Order: sequence, then structure tokens, then C-alpha cells
Amino acid sequence: MSKDQYQAHDYFLMDEMLTDEHKLIRDSARAWVKKEVSPIIEDYYERAEFPNQILDGLASIGGFGPYIPEEYGGAGLDQISYGLIMQELERCDSGLRSTSSVQSSLVMYPIWKFGNETQKKKYLPKLASGEMIGCFGLTEPDFGSNPGGMITNFTEDGDHLILNGAKMWISNAPFADIAVVWAKDPNNRIKGVIVERGMEGFETPEMHGKHSLRASSTGELIFNNVRVPKENILPNKDGLGAPLSCLDSARYGIAWGAIGAAMDCYDSALRYSKERIQFGKPIASFQLIQKKLAEMITEISKAQLLTFRLGQLKNEDRATSAQISMAKRNNVDMALKVAREARQIHGAMGIMNEYSVMRHMANLESVITYEGTHDIHLLITGLDITGIQAFN
Ligand SMILES: Cc1cc2nc3c(=O)[nH]c(=O)nc-3n(C[C@H](O)[C@H](O)[C@H](O)COP(=O)(O)OP(=O)(O)OC[C@H]3O[C@@H](n4cnc5c(N)ncnc54)[C@H](O)[C@@H]3O)c2cc1C
Repeated sequence: MSKDQYQAHDYFLMDEMLTDEHKLIRDSARAWVKKEVSPIIEDYYERAEFPNQILDGLASIGGFGPYIPEEYGGAGLDQISYGLIMQELERCDSGLRSTSSVQSSLVMYPIWKFGNETQKKKYLPKLASGEMIGCFGLTEPDFGSNPGGMITNFTEDGDHLILNGAKMWISNAPFADIAVVWAKDPNNRIKGVIVERGMEGFETPEMHGKHSLRASSTGELIFNNVRVPKENILPNKDGLGAPLSCLDSARYGIAWGAIGAAMDCYDSALRYSKERIQFGKPIASFQLIQKKLAEMITEISKAQLLTFRLGQLKNEDRATSAQISMAKRNNVDMALKVAREARQIHGAMGIMNEYSVMRHMANLESVITYEGTHDIHLLITGLDITGIQAFN
């Protein structure tokens, strides 16, 4: 087992822009990760399992719905606090951050924003405490970047819906207690429906064989004439805009999370380059290694500044979907490049599980694809600046 030697880097003195509360929240998350998750993450990654025993701890550091109001069991924190928690979780592993951001932004957020009071009271406190785990079903086998084409649908039968279809690539599905599922109603309108484990005809088989995000559990959602009470429809928003606004919240968290992964890779590469001797000198003394390290910290610092500003806009409810897309795309791409360079600086050791760099690199290949691919986010920026849609 490798020891977590991580030390944070703050080249542009970003800490001075944070409040004492922000720093406290970030430092608590960091300390919890070091103590409870770092020692076991490689093992769970290799076994391709999510460590369910950490769910209570994850809840205790605000990992589930930190910005959800306290009356519904959340911590009532601001968006920068949410971002800092995501940064610390992904600093350890993208799968850990995925579990947290799916629960917060893709399950709690739609129930909070689009649910009625009964649904909020029934589900949110249990989701905040980790007593209940949720998943988000949008993607289908034939509809990924184009979710509006989804086939999953329901008909009505008295006070029930009859749900049919299938979702694929769903994080947390194999052990989730509830699923927020996006399906078309008899008028072809997309609606959010809360489906509970145990409903007849509802199955959640696990997907195996991932080379990436192995410490996160991914599965399918299969609906075979599932009878869902009508009271489980999220009443306050429908259409594709509803799931897309959840994705905005989750993508915002990813933008912060990717910085965490990049910082961990940079930190490991910096330490290794000072310790590793070749040609009688630490490899950090070679210009080509310094170029790599200097470019890494430059890109990390730029991403930190972009994302902090996005957090301010989010706090003021002024962040646009296109700004969030730009930050998600930039930061994940940046983190992947940092991970690849860090892997090279570690030489052959870089492929070993004694270091986190290869795991981050493999994880980030999922992160650059899910919640909107790298290219789709570019097209969102293109649409925003030209006013012309280039998706189809
Ligand atoms: C580990 C993991 C976890 C996930 N978790 C969830 C989850 O919890 N819930 C959920 O609903 N989904 C989840 N997803 C699904 C994810 O959001 C989709 O994989 C993603 O949206 C891309 O869809 P796709 O894989 O079908 O790729 P496709 O849409 O088939 O895209 C394939 C390629 O074509 C490109 N492309 C597609 N359309 C265009 C276009 N118009 N112009 C140019 N290029 C285009 C894409 O950029 C990509 O490079 C997860 C995925 C992974 C890998």
C-alpha cells in the first residue's frame, strides 16, 4: 500500500480568495480522504468495486448535497464549498468524486429543484445522510450525446405509470436505492421519474470490464413494465432542459474535481523528480523535466482561476451553461495532459499502483467523455459564440 504524501500547491495564493469556512471545509475533506480513502483506493480500484463502507464518512464531510438547504438535510453551503469538496475527492480518485457528484447534482438537485414538498421531505434528508443512494438515468445504449432521442417511455394506468426501456452507463446503479429516470410521457415530453429499488420489473445489472473509473460502480437500468406511482413524477419541470440543468450542476463539480486530479499528479511528479537520480543528478535538474513541471503548474493555476470565477458566478446564479461547458472541457483536458506528463516523469514507476498517476490518467478518460464529451462541449461554446448550431 502506498502512503498518501500529497501536499497542496497554491501558486497564485488562491487561499487568500477563500473564506475561513471554505478552508475549513476543504481541509476537513482533505484530511478525511487521506485517512479513510487513500489507504484503500488502489485495492478497490484493482478489484473494480466501490468501497461502500465510506458512504457515512462521505456524508459527514458534506459529500452529499452540500448546497442543499439545511431544512432538507443538506449543509446549505455555497457553490465554492461544493467545488472544493469535489476537488479534494477527485484528488484521490475520480470515481469517489463521481459517487458524490451524482448523488448531489444528479439526484438531490432535481428532487430539490423539480420535486414537490412531499418528495423533498421523503428523499432529500436520507440522501444527504447517505442512508439512501441514488443514480441518474439519462444515457441509453443508442442515445449518448443525443439524449433527446431516448426511447425509454411510460404510459398511464390509473394512478400509476408503466415504464419501459433501458439506460446504460449509469454510475451507482448497481447499489442505488432510487433512480431519477428521464423518460418520455405519452405526449413525447421528457419527464423525471423516481424509480425505487424493489419495484417489479426494475433491474440494475452491473457493467464489467472497465479500464477506467474502476472504483466507481457502473450499471444498466432495465424497465420492463415497471409500475411506478404517479406521485413519483417530478412535477415542476419537464423537457430536455430539466436533465440538462442537473448536468450543469454536475459539470461544474467536475471542473473543480479535475483540478484535484491534476494537482495530485503534479505533486507526485514534482516529488519524484527531486528524488529520482539519473546521470548523477535528480531528474528535476534537467530542463525537459522542468518544462513539463512548469507547464503543469501554469495550466493548473489558470484552471483554478477560471473555476474560482465560475464559482462566484454560480453563487450569484449568473453562470451560464456555456461557461460551465467551457470550464468542464478545459479542466478535464488539462488534467488528462498533466496526468500523461506526470506519468512520463515517473518513468516505468509511473505505470505502478504505488503511484496514483496512471489511475488518474485512466479515470480521466471517462471524465472527458461523460457528462458531455470533449467535442460536444466545444460545440456548445461554438453555438454560444456564433449563434449557429453545429450538432446536426
Ligand atoms: C464511467 C461512465 C459513467 C457514466 N455515468 C453516467 C450516469 O450516471 N448517467 C448517465 O445518464 N450517463 C452516464 N454516462 C454516459 C455518458 O454521459 C455518455 O457516455 C456520454 O454522454 C457520451 O455518450 P456515448 O458514450 O454514447 O458517445 P456518443 O454520443 O456515441 O459519441 C461518440 C463520439 O462521437 C462524438 N459525437 C457525437 N455526436 C457528435 C456531433 N454532433 N458532432 C461531433 N461529434 C459528435 C462524440 O464527441 C464522441 O467522440 C457515463 C459514462 C461513463 C463512461
